[in-house]
Amino acid sequence: ANDTRIAAISSAIRVIPDFPKPGILFHDITTLLLDTKAFKDTIDLFVERYRDKNISVVAGIEARGFIFGPPIALAIGAKFVPMRKPKKLPGEVISEEYSLEYGKDVMEMHVGAVEAGERALIVDDLIATGGTLCAAIRLLGKRVGVHVVECACVVELPELKGRDRLGDKPLFVLVN
Ligand code: AMP
Repeated sequence: ANDTRIAAISSAIRVIPDFPKPGILFHDITTLLLDTKAFKDTIDLFVERYRDKNISVVAGIEARGFIFGPPIALAIGAKFVPMRKPKKLPGEVISEEYSLEYGKDVMEMHVGAVEAGERALIVDDLIATGGTLCAAIRLLGKRVGVHVVECACVVELPELKGRDRLGDKPLFVLVN
């Protein structure tokens, strides 16, 4: 039954070549959100995996981790914490720099949103090089002392070997 759900999720994701620049094969999850069954199955598959894992916080990565993270958090009884681009959060923040293909970016989180020793799930739509998830792991794990139980994405691009950058943190994906 999982296989049929996953096949439908996979085919609901639209793949657009050369967006936002030449050479990038963009995986567009907005078409998955239009398919009410596939979208619900996506959330259900994560909830089935994480409901009994004592997770107290779901950390969602801007922007598409804000779509998948909150319904998972609600269903498993965890709080939701946004991991944002710089200068978006109004309170005191901690920041972590990370490198992109060209240049650098910064991820920020509110101080006090999560405490040392809490058990976190990190959610994003897709893992490519793994740089983004790696920054989230550093922010939560190294900086705050949170136990990152797992990272969860809808899509993995395995040829980019992002999984190898996550160190000892497990990665769970629905489609690759
Ligand atoms: P990375 O840090 O290289 O693993 O990139 C992951 C982040 O960039 C995620 O937040 C994705 O939403 C976005 N991203 C990277 N590559 C793609 C792609 N081919 N299609 C859609 N989103 C992508």
